[in-house]
Formats: sequence, structure tokens, C-alpha cells
Amino acid sequence: MNIVFLGPPGVGKGTVAAILSARHSLPHISTGNMLREDVDKGTPLGVEARGFMDAGKLVPDELVTKIVKERVSQPDCKSGFILDGYPRTSAQARALQEFAAIDAVLDFKAPFKTIVERISGRRTCRKCKATFHAKYSPPKKEGVCDKCGGELYQRSDEKPGIITERLKVYEEQNKPLIDYYRNEALLSEIDASFHIDNIEKIIGQCEKVIVQHK
Ligand code: AMP
Repeated sequence: MNIVFLGPPGVGKGTVAAILSARHSLPHISTGNMLREDVDKGTPLGVEARGFMDAGKLVPDELVTKIVKERVSQPDCKSGFILDGYPRTSAQARALQEFAAIDAVLDFKAPFKTIVERISGRRTCRKCKATFHAKYSPPKKEGVCDKCGGELYQRSDEKPGIITERLKVYEEQNKPLIDYYRNEALLSEIDASFHIDNIEKIIGQCEKVIVQHK
């Protein structure tokens, strides 16, 4: 079961992917997380990617495709995976088709205002990458991760000006991607407008699609 999650930054794909990944034993592959790890470690890839990421732009297709291709060839991906944040362009979708057969594409949707509110309140753990929301799902102690005690911070690309740029980039790139997967008859829409307290309503829609494709 190879699944692709599409949707704008802040729509909740990452949170849903983490839950489904645990429940269905499917590795959650987030290109954003992998790239941030490289940036933090200062690897050559991280050094190259950093400028694009800080500006809210997309990292070049070849760079991202290389890390995804390597990741899905690992033994733990043999029974399937959830791709979160890849592909983001038609060129990436075509490249992906060359090395993995995709079974289902879930397109997450939520109103623009909801998305901006979600991203701007998000706080991420430096250590384990768990995410919280300053208003909707705050940590027990401000600035400290409930899961591992790590320091919570606001990602530089989650500040207001950059969010708008990322959403603009998303709008530009997304239409051809949606058309591509609709033509392949793989696309299912997920209403992701529900509040985090109702996340099971989002999970339920995803599981319905997963069961259909099993
Ligand atoms: P995300 O956490 O998925 O929103 O990704 C954060 C940033 O990483 C994006 O704004 C891009 O700069 C970069 N990135 C993640 N995935 C991709 C991708 N598939 N193609 C190009 N850039 C990406």
C-alpha cells in the first residue's frame, strides 16, 4: 500500500500521517522532515536546501527525488509507505512513477484562514519533531515537549510572511499535480477542516480510502 498525501502546508497531513503510520505499520516519509534534518546536521544536501526552505520556495526536484528514492528502497518500505510532502510538482510525480507504484492519493483540503491559523500557532520539538499548537494543543509546560522534554520552537518558515509565500507556491504547483493523479484515477478528497479534537473524522475518511485500495 503506497500512499501519497497531497495538500497545502498546515492542512494537517503530517499529524494524520503519523497516526496512520503507527496504526497500519506504514513508514511515514516526510520530505520536509528529512530536509530539515539535513539542514540541522549541515550536510551538503542541507546546505544546498536551506536557502530555498528559508525563503518558502521549493528545493530543486532532483535533490528531493534522490532522497525519496533512497528512502523508499529501504527494507521497511517493502509493504508500503505514506509519502507526505512529495511529490509537489508534476516533474516529481513523473519521477516517482519510475521507482514506485502508487495505490492511492489523498488530497487534503481546508479553508485558507484555518491553514494560516494552524501554521502560525505551530510549535515543533527540536529533538523529536513532535508538533504542538500554541492555542489548540498546547504542551503541558510552555516551550517544552510533552513527549521527550526537548525545546519547542517556531520554524523559520512558519512565520507569517513565509507562510503566505509557501501557500502561493503550493497553489501554483498543485493544479497540474491534481490533474495528473485525477487522470490516473488515484485521487480521493479528504475534508481536513475539522479541529484537532475531531481528528478521528479525518482519519476515518483516510482509512475508508485505504480499505478500498487494499
Ligand atoms: P513541509 O514541511 O513539507 O512543508 O516542507 C518544508 C519545506 O521543505 C518546503 O517549503 C520546501 O522548501 C521543502 N520541501 C519539502 N518537500 C519538498 C518537495 N517535495 N519538493 C521541493 N521542496 C520540498
